[in-house]
Amino acid sequence: MGYKLASRREKQEDTFVKVGSAVVGGSLLTMIAGPCAIENREQYLQVAVDLKNAGVQMLRGGAFKPRTSPYDFQGLAAEGLDILAEAHRVTGLPVVTEVLDTRDVETVVKYADVLQVGSRNMQNFALLKEVGRSNGPVLLKRGLAATIDEWLMAAEYIMAEGNSQVIMCERGIRTFETHTRNTLDISAIPALKQLSHLPVIVDPSHAAGKWEMVAPLAKASVAAGADGLLIEVHPCPDDAICDGGQSLTMVNFSGLMKELVPIAKAVGRECRCNAEHLVKKNAI
Ligand code: PEP
Ligand code: MN
Repeated sequence: MGYKLASRREKQEDTFVKVGSAVVGGSLLTMIAGPCAIENREQYLQVAVDLKNAGVQMLRGGAFKPRTSPYDFQGLAAEGLDILAEAHRVTGLPVVTEVLDTRDVETVVKYADVLQVGSRNMQNFALLKEVGRSNGPVLLKRGLAATIDEWLMAAEYIMAEGNSQVIMCERGIRTFETHTRNTLDISAIPALKQLSHLPVIVDPSHAAGKWEMVAPLAKASVAAGADGLLIEVHPCPDDAICDGGQSLTMVNFSGLMKELVPIAKAVGRECRCNAEHLVKKNAI
């Protein structure tokens, strides 16, 4: 076996990853939401406040974007990190953002509460080692063509450097199916729960690639035992610089939060949604 620190055999009890006020792996479902990329200050701060009011535990937003084409928007970089830090100050919520390059880890860790290693970098071993030395919690996305064993081995690279705060994130894998952007591997949730003590969250947005499919996949993930969800939300998806087609509006996101409440309860968890805010937003 290529991994041991990440293995359930090595550690039987579930690992809780504490991030500010949030505990990933606890009985409260960890809802992480925000736009794909931080596009500008006003828009990000507004969506951050709205998401806090809706009841999320953490904010997301990319400052360094791994785009398929080098000519597409690559993120606001340092300016994006400043906006992220401001959103954290304004809302008090922890923030997660992707780090693409080993040379940026030292900087990003000063601004972000959780370092995201993206799907395309899951086997960037130099980056895994660097975030492993950073001491900040790491959200490790599954590689788009990675087996569960390869994914756990990537977690092991981080843990072997002394950082045990790893959150696994299933985000869909590439299959023969083209109707969706990727195929969400729901079975990865119970498989990881059996093989590992690390918390598991699901990103239905990058799996589906279509906003209409995000809510059903989110609900299935919670029912299957996910510890949380990472969801792309944009105030105006039609105008989003990236991933608008898979982004939920604030109203749709709030509606999903409400629908998750009974599903979470049925599997012994809590989804904390702010009903008063939803009524104000005409979501219910
Ligand atoms: C993202 O979360 O913005 C992202 C790029 O995701 P992934 O690495 O899963 O494609
Ligand atoms: Mn995205």
